[in-house]
Amino acid sequence: MWCGCVIRGLHHITALASDPQVNLDFYVGVLGLRLVKISVNQDDPGVYHFFYADEKGSPGTDLTFFPYVGIDRGVLGYGVSTRVYFSIPLDSLDYWLERLRSFGIHYSEPRRTEDGVVVEFNGPDDFPLALVAHKEADDKEIYPWRDSPVPSEHFLRGFHKAEITVISCKHSGWFLEEVLGFRKIREGSDSARYAAGDGGSGSIIDVLCPPGLSTGYVGAGTVHHIAWSVDGDREQVFYRERLSRLGFGVTPVIDRKWFRSIYFREPGHVLYEIATKGPGFDVDEPPERLGSDLVLPEWLEPQRGWIERILPQIRLPNGKKIPSRYVDRNPR
Ligand code: ZN
Repeated sequence: MWCGCVIRGLHHITALASDPQVNLDFYVGVLGLRLVKISVNQDDPGVYHFFYADEKGSPGTDLTFFPYVGIDRGVLGYGVSTRVYFSIPLDSLDYWLERLRSFGIHYSEPRRTEDGVVVEFNGPDDFPLALVAHKEADDKEIYPWRDSPVPSEHFLRGFHKAEITVISCKHSGWFLEEVLGFRKIREGSDSARYAAGDGGSGSIIDVLCPPGLSTGYVGAGTVHHIAWSVDGDREQVFYRERLSRLGFGVTPVIDRKWFRSIYFREPGHVLYEIATKGPGFDVDEPPERLGSDLVLPEWLEPQRGWIERILPQIRLPNGKKIPSRYVDRNPR
């Protein structure tokens, strides 16, 4: 297609949260993901940016959070991505149901769908999550985290699909198909499915447009943006020029250190990003030490002093506290 520039599938999904420690304890301690990078929101460096993924931080496995202490809950509705779906192997369903139960997490009755067996539950801040048990999950190229509390055979196999709720399936679908080059898989009266690249698990997006909803609001417990993966800079520039030529607002290419990004809104107001696969999370930390300390891109390093003073202190699963030089400004 065009220059051969295609979107491969999901790169990462970024959401908002209200408590960094609760967030970390859940995604590492309960879901068993590896915290592969502790950094700050580069557009608002007084706030953390946590990246949870597989052992290597592979694109397609990476759920990230901006934990803004005490922010309001988001509201699901038009213009918001409404649930995040993780793949698990078919044989892992019983393990996961037992694991969720053991942490007192309520989940929906497992339901057979075109994707596989789906179980829905909520993370902290009532963030809507789901597990999709399906047989292709084992074939996905992901690397279970060796130190995960979840045994490697049950480790989450990356994202299965994204889901957005918008006022018009037609407009949001047109954008996916005609602007971003997705394929329409099916279409109903108030939903449609599209796929990027090879169309397998991790490259699917469901567009929902049920009547009678209100406009949503992005806040704690909702997705902030969905990032799609391209192979490199050439593909990213292609999409940037295409969006620009068609009159869509799109940011310049922004170097995020671990990948490069452009951002734009689709017609239903959901924020998308297109991110390059590399260079990856090991550019500034050795692979075995990913996520073991607060990492800042070099352009924020001169500001480390105030950043470390303003960030709330967190405790990693190994007991290490970050920032280590933290001074409690409000001692009791
Ligand atoms: Zn992003």
